[in-house]
Amino acid sequence: MPATVQQPLPHLQIDFPFAEADRCVLCGLCLPHCPTYRLTEDENESPRGRISLLRAMASANLPVTREAGAHLSRCLGCRACERVCPSGVHYGIILDAGRSLLASRLGTSRRERLLLVLMRHLDWLRPLTAIARVAQRFGVRKLLRSLGVMRWFGLQQAEALLPELKPMPPWQTLYPAEGRQRERVALFLGCVARAVDGETLQAAIRLLTRLGHDVVVPAPQGCCGALYREAGDQDGAAMMAAQNRSAFAESGAQTILTLASGCGAVLAGQDFAGTPAVDIHAFLAERDMPADCSFEPLRQTVAVQDPCSLRNGLRTEQAVYRLLERIPELQITALPENAICCGGAGSYPLREPDFAQRLRAPKLAALAQLKPDVLVSANIGCLLHLAAGIREQQLTIPVLHPVMLLERQLRRAETGSGLSAANRFR
Ligand code: SF4
Ligand code: SF4
Repeated sequence: MPATVQQPLPHLQIDFPFAEADRCVLCGLCLPHCPTYRLTEDENESPRGRISLLRAMASANLPVTREAGAHLSRCLGCRACERVCPSGVHYGIILDAGRSLLASRLGTSRRERLLLVLMRHLDWLRPLTAIARVAQRFGVRKLLRSLGVMRWFGLQQAEALLPELKPMPPWQTLYPAEGRQRERVALFLGCVARAVDGETLQAAIRLLTRLGHDVVVPAPQGCCGALYREAGDQDGAAMMAAQNRSAFAESGAQTILTLASGCGAVLAGQDFAGTPAVDIHAFLAERDMPADCSFEPLRQTVAVQDPCSLRNGLRTEQAVYRLLERIPELQITALPENAICCGGAGSYPLREPDFAQRLRAPKLAALAQLKPDVLVSANIGCLLHLAAGIREQQLTIPVLHPVMLLERQLRRAETGSGLSAANRFR
C-alpha cells in the first residue's frame, strides 16, 4: 500500500505524502509519456517537475504562487506517468494532496465554485437541462454569449462542449431482468452523463436486463467526487463518497456498474461494504452471453479511443475491444496514440482550453485520415471533448459510447430496429 499521509504541514494545515514523493528517483523515464511535457518540453510541465515543485511548496522551501499553481492546473491527472514509473510512484496521491494544498492557499475559481454547488444539487440538473434545451432551440445562448454572461461564469468553454440536449429521462428504482435472472447490479448514473447522455444510460439498462441482470438505480446517489478532487476539495469528495455509500448500501446489488470510466476510477477505490464498483465493459466481457442472445453483424469500421481513466486508472481498456469483437464483421481499430490523453480529462477543457485543444488536434487529424464509420469512447468527458472537435471540423463521424453500439446491434438482431447510429453528440 502506498503511504498517503506522512507528515503534517503546520503552516498550511494540509497533509502531504512526503514518503510517496520521495520515492521519485528523478530518473525521468516518465517524461516522454507525459502529454504536457511532450507539448512543452518544459520540466515544470512534467511529472518529475511537478513532484519536486509540490514537495518544495509543502515543506515551505518555495512559496505557493499562482505561477506554481498554473503548472499543477495544466496536469491532466491522466496518470500516464504512474503507469510507466519503474519506482511505482503513485502520482495520483501526490496530485490530490497538491491540489488541496494549492486550493487552501490560492482559493478556487468562480467556475469551480459554481460547478461544485451544482454537484451538490444534482436535482437542479433536470430544470437546468430543460432551460438549456430551450436556449439551444431558440438561440438564446448566442445572446448570452454576446452579453458575456457565459464568460463571467467562466463557462464559455462548457457551452461549446454541450451537444444538442435531449430531455432527461425519468429513472425507475428497479428494472427487472428479461428471461432467466443472472445477477443484480446497481447502476451509477454520474452527473454530466445523466444530464447530457441519458440515452446511453438507458441503452445500458436495456442491454443489462436483456442479458439477464436486474438493474437497480438508487435515487439518492450523487456525483462521484472527481470534480471535487480536481478542485482540491477533499472534504467535498469525502461527502460525495459518503452519500454514494449510503445510497448503494440498500440496493442489494452484487456489483455497482459505472459507464463513465472517469467516475469508475474514483468509485473503484472506495469501500461499498464489500460490493465492488466495476466498469460495465469489464463486467460484461467477463460473462458469456446468454444462449438466446446475439449481436447483429455490422460491416463497418469502429475507431476506439481509450480514456486515460480506463487505461491508467482502472487498467481495463482491453475489455472494450473484447466486447466489440462479439459483433460479427465489425472492423475494430484503436485510435493512434491512445496512450496520450485527448485533453478531455474531467474539467480540463474548461480549465485549460488551449492545452485541451492542442492535445485533441492529433486525434482529430487521425480521425480525418482514418475516416471510421463510428468513434467510441467509454468516458463522457472524452466523448464531449472529441465530439466538440469533430463538430468544429465538420467531420461526419458519429461519436458513441460503446454500450450504445452493443445495445443497438443486440436489438437489431432481435427486432430489426435499434437506436440510430446518427451522431449522438451532434
Ligand atoms: S518515472 Fe517515476 S521515479 Fe522516474 S522521474 Fe518519473 S515519477 Fe520519478
Ligand atoms: S498525470 Fe498526466 S499530465 Fe499529469 S504529470 Fe502525469 S502524465 Fe503528465
